[in-house]
Amino acid sequence: MNSVHRIDLPRVVLVGWGVLGSLGEVFLELGLKRPLIVTGHKTIDIAGSQAEEYMRDLGLKPELELCTEADLETVKRISEKAESIEADTVIGVGGGRTIDVAKLSAGKSGAFFISVPTTASHDGIASNLASVKGLGRPYSMKANPPIAVLADSQIISESPFRFTASGCGDVISKAVSVRDWRLAHEEKNDYYGEYAGSLALMGSSLIMRNAEKIRDRIEEGYRTLLEALVSCGVSMSIAGSSRPCSGSAHLVSHALDTIAPGAALHGEQCGVGTIMMAKLHGLDWEKIRDSLKTIGAPTTAEELGIDGGILVEALVKAGSIRPERYTILNKVNLTLTSARKLAENCGLI
Ligand SMILES: [Zn+2]
Repeated sequence: MNSVHRIDLPRVVLVGWGVLGSLGEVFLELGLKRPLIVTGHKTIDIAGSQAEEYMRDLGLKPELELCTEADLETVKRISEKAESIEADTVIGVGGGRTIDVAKLSAGKSGAFFISVPTTASHDGIASNLASVKGLGRPYSMKANPPIAVLADSQIISESPFRFTASGCGDVISKAVSVRDWRLAHEEKNDYYGEYAGSLALMGSSLIMRNAEKIRDRIEEGYRTLLEALVSCGVSMSIAGSSRPCSGSAHLVSHALDTIAPGAALHGEQCGVGTIMMAKLHGLDWEKIRDSLKTIGAPTTAEELGIDGGILVEALVKAGSIRPERYTILNKVNLTLTSARKLAENCGLI
């Protein structure tokens, strides 16, 4: 094990109503000079243009680039643009995909990255990891964490609730990923960081405890979710890997991505995976299912929009998606029969 443990964290995190308006001030406060804003087709009208305007008001000259696809080609195009205008900062203003593309483009061009999420759909908003098409694997790659995160609860409360419910599924799944991590430590002597693990676990229990507030779209609920997503990102930076936040439930989601691409959102799939993986771990899986149900996240294959057989297939495939990552799936080794039984026992099919 390395005796030197490097932790890179965001320097400024703003969570709250209307914080988008502080983007220019934060940018100047950090001593940054040349911004490139990356935004999506829809999010340009929700926040992208506004972000540009706020910066112009302060005398800055941001350029704006559209994130058309979440793939490596787009990352290349945007990073080349950043280099050509000598941008010192790439600002991602948009949903999960735009954030990931902006984060990787910043890394590739050697610029800082500022994260301005318009949805709360997954924990990539403050993490040092990102995932796009063309990586040759369904899970994330390492990048730099954002230097600043501005999570505007007003914008996020106006986004489709499905994204919010998905973000909750992603956070709740940490109940399982931390268990998987501990298991890998006990059985395979993997490094385990108790602080990072505890932080991720806290997010999961806070979301379960605040399920009603989130369901009722109360601002406090949105803020709890945003803070939990940021904390999950921080826990990954502290751990130096996605280990505290990505375990067996994520492997089920990644398997679904390869078998039925685009069927459901990342966090929705992780939530469903968490119900079953929690049962394998001997955790209170019914409490997890009930929290997801209260929030309005999918808790069955049908609600995910997939056939029961596909879910069973994904369960069997999940164990081999990422061989180096030891989880409960390596210990239990699901067959078609036992996977079907598990999904049935959890009321998923
Ligand atoms: Zn996730």
